[in-house]
Amino acid sequence: MKRPFPAFAALAFVSIGLVFASAQQKPGLKVFISVDMEGISGIVHSDQTTAGTPEYASGRKWMAQDVNAAVEAALEAGATEVVVNDSHGSMRNIDPDDLHPLAILISGSPKPLSMMQGIDPSFAACLFIGYHAKAGTEDAILDHTISGSVVRFVKVNGVEWPELGLNAAIAGYYGVPVVLVSGDLAVCRQAGEVLGKDVVTVAVKEAYGRLAAKLVPMAQARQLIKTGVKNALEKLGRIKPFKIAAPYTFELGYHVSAQADMGAMLLPQVKRSDARTLAFTANDYIEGFRMLRALISLAPAR
Ligand SMILES: [Zn+2]
Repeated sequence: MKRPFPAFAALAFVSIGLVFASAQQKPGLKVFISVDMEGISGIVHSDQTTAGTPEYASGRKWMAQDVNAAVEAALEAGATEVVVNDSHGSMRNIDPDDLHPLAILISGSPKPLSMMQGIDPSFAACLFIGYHAKAGTEDAILDHTISGSVVRFVKVNGVEWPELGLNAAIAGYYGVPVVLVSGDLAVCRQAGEVLGKDVVTVAVKEAYGRLAAKLVPMAQARQLIKTGVKNALEKLGRIKPFKIAAPYTFELGYHVSAQADMGAMLLPQVKRSDARTLAFTANDYIEGFRMLRALISLAPAR
């Protein structure tokens, strides 16, 4: 079949090649940003993070503004490319028109690496913007781990991790350090506990329970993110990629036993340690992460 508009197709190919050429090379300072929503400045309730609600328009606008503060700071610090992965829910929260004009957006879901899609060894640093604390954390806005209706906890080699740990280990797999985490005070504390004291944390709110918080004024919160990103990129060499040694034993605790049934019945490599907990071991972290997501996907919602 004859290809229509060959000249246009060739032109499009050339320009796409230019935009994405640096993925193949080792450029100066590529920055990867994974942006979730619960830890965004101003957000205290799922009505602000769920499409179809009247408050969602504000939530997605605040999300773009927090991430734009990080993008601006990265560019001012000398970033040669900034990739933003929309990492919440449908992963179509950021309107591409609202994103900083020089940032590249990864939009939509599902993606093989989910909240970390797009990361590769060519990146110098990774930032987590708008992150939240793990399921079961007190005084933490919208605390959960991956799926609020399915997951009670995730442990890797005996340690319970928030999403920031699970995702930092993916960055670490590719040799990329997570240098900054923004969100509420609770996720900032957990970032320090999991990633160590050198990671820069930016608290944009302090929670009273799960659905209320004292907010840093919005313009000030974005300024804090900008300053934090600059500080983090300045001390880049001192923050090591988050790597833990293989093998990786994952334990997934569900809310109810019915959620563990399908994984236990269908997957021979999975062991049921109790009615509500499945465990498996992987030698490759990414393979383990994929199995974790499969087990969560197999579980019916409560
Ligand atoms: Zn989220």
